[in-house]
Amino acid sequence: MDPLPLSRRRFLQISAATFGAAASSPTLSATAPAAGPDKTVATYCEMCFWRCGGLGVVREGKLHAFVGNPLDPASNGRLCPRGTGAPGSHVEPDRVRTPLIRVGARGKEEFKSVTWDEALDHVAARLQKIKAEQGPESVAFFKHGIGAKFIEHALKSWGVVNSAAPSYAQCRGPRDVGFVLTYGTGLGSPEPLDIANTKTLVLIGSHLGENMHNTQVQEFAEFLGRGGKLIVADPRLSVAASKAAHWLPVKAGTDIALINAWMNVIVTEGLYDQAFVKEYGHGFEEFARFIRTQTPDWAAAETGIPAATIRATARAMAATRPATLIHPGRRSNWYGDDSQRARAVALLNALMGNWGRKGGFFLQHTVKLAPYPLPPYPKSAKGKADNPGGKYPFADEELSTGIREATLTGQPYPIKAWVVYSTNLVFTLPDPRKTLAAIDKLDFLVVIDTIGSEIAGYADVVLPEAMFLERYDDINSVWGRRGWVALRQPVVPAPSPEQKPGWWIGKQLANKLGVPQAIPFSDIEEYLAARVEKAGLSYAQLKRDGVIVGPVKPNYVEEGGKIEFDTPSGKVEFFSEQIKKAGFDPVPRYVRPAPAPAGMVRLITGRSPVHTFGRTQGNPILHDMQPTNEVWIATPLAAKLGVADGQKVRLRNQDGITSLPVAARLTERLRPDCVYMVYGFGHTSRMSRLSFEMGASASHLNSSYRTDPLTGSTSIHTNFVAILKEPAAPPPKPAAAQAVPAGASTPTVTEA
Ligand code: SF4
Repeated sequence: MDPLPLSRRRFLQISAATFGAAASSPTLSATAPAAGPDKTVATYCEMCFWRCGGLGVVREGKLHAFVGNPLDPASNGRLCPRGTGAPGSHVEPDRVRTPLIRVGARGKEEFKSVTWDEALDHVAARLQKIKAEQGPESVAFFKHGIGAKFIEHALKSWGVVNSAAPSYAQCRGPRDVGFVLTYGTGLGSPEPLDIANTKTLVLIGSHLGENMHNTQVQEFAEFLGRGGKLIVADPRLSVAASKAAHWLPVKAGTDIALINAWMNVIVTEGLYDQAFVKEYGHGFEEFARFIRTQTPDWAAAETGIPAATIRATARAMAATRPATLIHPGRRSNWYGDDSQRARAVALLNALMGNWGRKGGFFLQHTVKLAPYPLPPYPKSAKGKADNPGGKYPFADEELSTGIREATLTGQPYPIKAWVVYSTNLVFTLPDPRKTLAAIDKLDFLVVIDTIGSEIAGYADVVLPEAMFLERYDDINSVWGRRGWVALRQPVVPAPSPEQKPGWWIGKQLANKLGVPQAIPFSDIEEYLAARVEKAGLSYAQLKRDGVIVGPVKPNYVEEGGKIEFDTPSGKVEFFSEQIKKAGFDPVPRYVRPAPAPAGMVRLITGRSPVHTFGRTQGNPILHDMQPTNEVWIATPLAAKLGVADGQKVRLRNQDGITSLPVAARLTERLRPDCVYMVYGFGHTSRMSRLSFEMGASASHLNSSYRTDPLTGSTSIHTNFVAILKEPAAPPPKPAAAQAVPAGASTPTVTEA
């Protein structure tokens, strides 16, 4: 393995001094070059879904740094630690370097290295066989990120209809559906939150600053700097909660009770925006009748928050409306009632009358691009398999867990192949046992990614993609205060010429599958320039600046902006007839969560500010900043169990699943009826030596999940764990010796 001489301290020093990290492909160099940059290339980040605009800095022909693009409204010239650490993903030592074909048993991670032609011929032959025997519907696509676009397009042109992003049912879906059912529109990404002008901000289970949504974190810092009032409801005193005027350590799973009680105070005391409700509200009387039953005294017993605190915080919210914002969160699929919980958040915001108002939800705009003329997709007689009979009536995207279920059961028809782009389904879907059982049922599994992972270890074919600083992708068209378009373009070549961009993989796949007309352009720039120039914009400007920002338009009602609601009533639906008609509660109703089994506590999870999901633990820079996770245990609970700070423990859940060892972090900042850890760690794939067996995996422990009956989204906070003490740890090894965990060995890759 290549040495990684860049220490964390050194990285932070040079990060602070404008440029993030010195890179000398394929290893990073800590020596700052004397010469200025050869060039800077404007592009946008894909270390997470926020897609901030950045500048790739090239020195002496090599990637030197990735910094914020001051012209870009998402980054405002500043990147988060993961974006700044993106050069680490360029030089990541265990990237997939060539196409691989499996030679051992599935999961053994034994592959032979092959050419692209061999790999794609093999893929095409296997997919065509499945199509001939079962139809193209039996091939499913899973995706994450904008790079999937052309591969998905090639597959859909060939007949694929089952195409799902786990980011829907496992992350953003219930939040958006809750808002669609209330306001007629989802919130999208980035959300139109006017934190810059908010006077009172309420975070309920959201951890700004730990979840590094760059623009929001910047506005949050400004909000705190000018003395905005922060109210945080969370079982854990998060970094954000430590800045709050009120921290409400709410019992996990009782958010709806708390929100309903807040609404009770605001309605019964007449503190809501009555003019807004009168003009734009639908079904307010039925809503209010129910909400009057949700008293703070009732909620106190459920949530653990004193009634007086509920009243005081509700009044504090109302005091600054409409510049009061209850943050809708993002990954809020926690307890299986999540679309109703999101609706409760949406309704509390509606009582503030903050839609289209300064300090609430601003009115968004975008810059339109022209579509590139591409042939339509063939029609499917079978339809999609993920949500048969519309079981989840308000699901408005495909359900990845639904496709997994169809794979397991063969109903409504068999799924025999998965093509998986840039998402490690073993980590992203709940209950990995089911995912592995579904993989067992497949005839063929293809993984396309920049890195190895658990799911890649089970693949029949692995196709190596270039990472975002090495490739073009489609243009990012963003809704925002002004709206903008952003270009992704290569800053440096990939370390291996066999690491190819997604558009190229899609084009080759289309050719091999016999649908070459699906991607008619020979070069991606032909496509990109056509979309931009046909819209009357300058492609040269976009290449130079990385972004084109739209004109100033009204963001608020006060500026002449218009608000409209695309709901059945055309109004904000306090009481929802469509939900009632589907057989569910028309106003969010609290259901008490299941109690912990004896000797167990609830496992709750969150994000690290220096990692994205489970995808960056092998990035040497980010690994250096946080190599592993810890489990937070409340001091009284630890005392009862005899667990010391730093002691290694394992977590065993209610289904008997046991984690890898993880260090205990004793804290006063957590309720004693739960433990907390950051997810994304605890990898068991040897395809990344840096992340192998580092920490414990929350995904692994998420074997018991509930499914939201409205949307089909799945929960992650419905598991309970016992804490098992490990024997005392041996003395620590020198830091250098820990760079690669003992026991990690390279997966077998033989040359063709
Ligand atoms: Fe990149 Fe951070 Fe922006 Fe995400 S928030 S796109 S990781 S800079």
